[in-house]
Formats: sequence, structure tokens, C-alpha cells
Amino acid sequence: MNKLPGYGDTVICPYNKCHVIMKSRIQTHLIKCAKQHPEIQLETCPFDVTHKFRPEDKNAHIDECPSRENFDRYVYSVSTNNAKETTETKPSSKSRRTHNNDDEDWE
Ligand SMILES: [Zn+2]
Ligand SMILES: [Zn+2]
Repeated sequence: MNKLPGYGDTVICPYNKCHVIMKSRIQTHLIKCAKQHPEIQLETCPFDVTHKFRPEDKNAHIDECPSRENFDRYVYSVSTNNAKETTETKPSSKSRRTHNNDDEDWE
């Protein structure tokens, strides 16, 4: 635990940019800070529910959200897997059977 605070593990409070909060405490902080700023309605990131931001910052956040890449990759891999399954299920099971028979001969 020798890490310096303020590098990597901190988040800037969307209610007040002077608040630099440890990531592990941001949710607690947001609840407290929300009570102090009832006029500010934050939006939640579609990629990570722990990301909160002001509506006017939404586009900027979506552009640079660190979770977005994972989300895109997940969607992409799911859709490619589905495509593979539908197109390749029958041929691959057939070729596997043939291959297994060959293996049995070898043993
Ligand atoms: Zn705050
Ligand atoms: Zn986000």
C-alpha cells in the first residue's frame, strides 16, 4: 500500500471539480455530494454504473469512457460468436467426427 494517492485511483467529483475522490469512495461521496447539490441531476454511464456525470458532459464522457472499449469488444465478440455458431455448427461437428475416427485408428 505504498501508492501515492492522487494517481490513477482517483475520480473527479462531477458535482464539484475541486473534489478529487478515491475511486473506492466515489459512490459514498456522490451520495453525500448529491444532497448538497440537489439541483444537479447526474446521468449514469451506459458502460459503467459507477460513472456519473452531468448531462452536458455526457458526450465527452462517452467518447473517453475507459469502460467503453470493453463494452464494444464484448458486443463485437458476442455478435461474431453468434455468426460463427449459426454458419459453422453443422460443418464443424461433421469434420470433428471424421477427425475423431482417424484418431481412433491411430490409437
Ligand atoms: Zn463532490
Ligand atoms: Zn463511463
